Amino acid sequence: MPTETETASRKGFAEAARQWLEENVPERWRTHRSVMTEEEGYEIRREWDRQLHRGGYAGLSLPKEFGGQGLDVAEEVIFADLAGRAQAPDGLARIGRILTAPTLVAHGTQYQLGRFLPKILNGDEVWCQGFSEPDAGSDLAGVRCRAVKVDGGYAVTGRKIWTSFASVADRCLLLAQTDPAAARHKNLTMFLLDMKQPGVSISGIRQSSGLTHFAEVQFDNVFVADEDRVAGEGDGWKVAMTVLANERGGVEAASRYVEIRADMDSLQRAIGHLPEYQRQLEDYDSRVELIRWQVMKSIDYDKDSAEFLKAASVLKLWWSELWQQIAELGLETADATNVEHWRLQYLETRAASIYSGSSEIQRNIISERILGLPR
Ligand SMILES: Cc1cc2nc3c(=O)[nH]c(=O)nc-3n(C[C@H](O)[C@H](O)[C@H](O)COP(=O)(O)OP(=O)(O)OC[C@H]3O[C@@H](n4cnc5c(N)ncnc54)[C@H](O)[C@@H]3O)c2cc1C
Repeated sequence: MPTETETASRKGFAEAARQWLEENVPERWRTHRSVMTEEEGYEIRREWDRQLHRGGYAGLSLPKEFGGQGLDVAEEVIFADLAGRAQAPDGLARIGRILTAPTLVAHGTQYQLGRFLPKILNGDEVWCQGFSEPDAGSDLAGVRCRAVKVDGGYAVTGRKIWTSFASVADRCLLLAQTDPAAARHKNLTMFLLDMKQPGVSISGIRQSSGLTHFAEVQFDNVFVADEDRVAGEGDGWKVAMTVLANERGGVEAASRYVEIRADMDSLQRAIGHLPEYQRQLEDYDSRVELIRWQVMKSIDYDKDSAEFLKAASVLKLWWSELWQQIAELGLETADATNVEHWRLQYLETRAASIYSGSSEIQRNIISERILGLPR
C-alpha cells in the first residue's frame, strides 16, 4: 500500500502530467493517425520521444544520473494511463525505453549506462530486439546466430526474423550463440550491436494489416566490441529473462492495459445500450480492470525476481487474449463509422498472442512454475 505522502505526490504528478499531455499531444496524431502513411507516423512518433524528454516524462522510473526521473514504476503506470486517455503517440524509442534501459540497469556496466541510457531517453537512438530466428522463436535456447571472438570484440553472423523497428533502428539488443559446445542456456550472450554498419542487411516484412513494422535481418561478419557485451559470456539466457519479464509485465503491460481500456470504452459507447451484449461487455470490462489490478500488484515485485517473471506471464496471457476478444466483438458489431478501426485492430491483435512469447509458452510457464504441474 502506498503511504499518504506517496498518494499525495502521485496525485500531484498525475495532475501535472494530465495538463502537459493536453498541451503537447499532436493534434494531427489525434485526428489523422489512421490515415497517415507509416513514414509520417514514424516522424511524429520520433518527435514525441524528444517531446517526452523535454517535458521530463522519459524514463520516469530510471536513474536520474542517466537522464531518467528516478520515480517509481507506479508513476510510469499513471503516465501510461493518462497518455492513453489523451491519445498520445507511442514513441519509436519504445524498445529502448521498455526493454533495453531496464536490462542495462539490471545487468549493464557503468560505461553502458552512461553511453546508451541518455540517448534512449532523449530519443536520439532507436532500438530493436534481435531474439527470434527462423528456427528459434519460442525456443530461444536454439538461437544459432553466432558471435565469434575476435580481437577487441566479436564477429556476428546469422539471421534474425520478425525484428520490429529494424529498418529505423540504430542499435539492436542481440542474443547470439557464443559457444556451440556449451550446455543449453549457457551458450548464449547478449550484445548491444550497432545496426548502421556494413554487413547488416534488412528486408521488410508486410503484416496482414498492411503495416511493415518488422523485418528479417542478416548479419554478415558484423563487429561488436567487448564493451558492448552485456554481463559475461554465456550469461545471455539470464539477461534475456530480464528482457522478457519487462516485455510481458510492468510498464509494457501497463501500456497495453491503456490500449485495451480505450478499445473497451469505444465498444461500450457503440453497443453498450444493446441488451444482447450486456453480459459479454460486463465480463470483458471486469477482465480489463483485473489487468489493471494485476499490473498495480506486480509493480511492487523486484524486477529481477522469479515472482515478477511469473506475474508477467499471467499478465501477458490475459492482455493478449482479452484484446483479441474485444477486437473480434468490435469487428462483429462494427458500423460505417468505426469499421476501419476495428478491421485494423482485429488484424493487429492476431499477433498479440504470438509476440513477447506465445500463449502456449505462457501457459507452460504458468502450469509448471506457478502451479507446479509436471512437465
Ligand atoms: C508482430 C510481431 C512482432 C515481433 N517482434 C519481434 C521483435 O522485435 N524481436 C524479436 O526477436 N522477435 C519478435 N517477434 C517474434 C516473436 O517473439 C515470435 O514469433 C514468438 O516468440 C514465437 O516464435 P515463432 O514465431 O518462432 O513460433 P514457434 O516457436 O515456431 O511456435 C509455433 C507454435 O508452436 C507453439 N509452441 C512452440 N513451442 C512450444 C512448446 N514448448 N509448448 C507448447 N507450444 C509450443 C507456439 O506457441 C506456436 O503456437 C515478433 C512477432 C510478431 C508476431
